[in-house]
Amino acid sequence: MARFRVHPRDAFHEKIIEQAARRLLGRVEEATGLVLDLLAEVSVDLNRKLIDALQRAGLNDVSDAVLTEQSNMMNRALSSLSNYERNIPEIFLSHLAKDGGAILTAAHASKLDELADLYQTLGLDMLSAWPKLGERSSWLALVDVICELGGFDQDRLAAEARIAQERVDQSGEVAFSALNIKSNYRDLDHWSQIGDPEAAVSILTDSLFKGWETARVAAAALAEAPPELAIPSLESALVRLQSSRQYQALVAHSLAHQKDYEPLAEWAISENATLRLVAAEALPAAIDEQLDPLLHTLARDQDRYVATAALHRIAETRISAAAEYLKEIAESLSWDWICADCGEVNDTARGGCRKCRYAPPDPTEVAGELLAKVFGDYSFSGKSLDDNR
Ligand SMILES: [Zn+2]
Repeated sequence: MARFRVHPRDAFHEKIIEQAARRLLGRVEEATGLVLDLLAEVSVDLNRKLIDALQRAGLNDVSDAVLTEQSNMMNRALSSLSNYERNIPEIFLSHLAKDGGAILTAAHASKLDELADLYQTLGLDMLSAWPKLGERSSWLALVDVICELGGFDQDRLAAEARIAQERVDQSGEVAFSALNIKSNYRDLDHWSQIGDPEAAVSILTDSLFKGWETARVAAAALAEAPPELAIPSLESALVRLQSSRQYQALVAHSLAHQKDYEPLAEWAISENATLRLVAAEALPAAIDEQLDPLLHTLARDQDRYVATAALHRIAETRISAAAEYLKEIAESLSWDWICADCGEVNDTARGGCRKCRYAPPDPTEVAGELLAKVFGDYSFSGKSLDDNR
């Protein structure tokens, strides 16, 4: 079975966001809202920089009438931070340091590799990986399960955690500064070493309902868990997560992996748009130079996110059948669509939802862009693919 993978983040991407925020805040009114929306789903480091940018923009603009509203929004953003456990980095390090401990070589002691990999595997540079108030003990239980599943060396972790604690005490250094440089994600598949798999599956399943990063890590671990335990848990979580497309899709990907991707054909024609989205993302796009007919259908889905996901998969195959199909969609008239946010049916001509103004991408435009990007020698000036062969 292929490994269940989740996407790593991109530090360069974050740099661009920060620079854009610093330039736009206070100059462009919409920027404040955009930056506030980003706060919950960026790294802790970027979160801090964006709040700094918001504060600076506010201070420079005292006479501005929007300042009151801006500062209200900023207070809301800051108070959402106060929902998180305080001193949790220190609690995390003490938890790791409490038992055992190895004698470290000088090289290990200088780099703290084991701790850095654990930090990376848990996604701790993201705010949503940390526990909110009241979640401390269940989160530490999750940390223990992840240590075992990732095959982490507990003695080394204990010794490295003590060194990290000393650095914080002596220099006032931020607990994890520089730890995410040169660290690696571990595969969470050491299930044979888990003493009580039932308890571990239960801890992981509860974690699916917490912050996004925590849920992402738990879903990756559950994708490799013993099927007789994981499948019923994932199926019940799938139903309970109906209200959030993002979380439901995460669980559906994990479940599809557990079932060798068998449910995808059924999900592709499901009434549930999230399941159709997962089918579009996970179906094998092409077999023997032929596109999967289910992807054809999904590319014309009434949910524009399902349609664009299918179009991306089709483009990735880089086969000529894909170019022909993208051309067909790009040149066709757009179709009525259902808003993924509020469920309103919108007619073709509307770019944004008439009820909630939500504006998803138009699949006919996306098809044209993908055609130009992936099959670059094609142009819309009436030149067909055949002319370029
Ligand atoms: Zn809507």
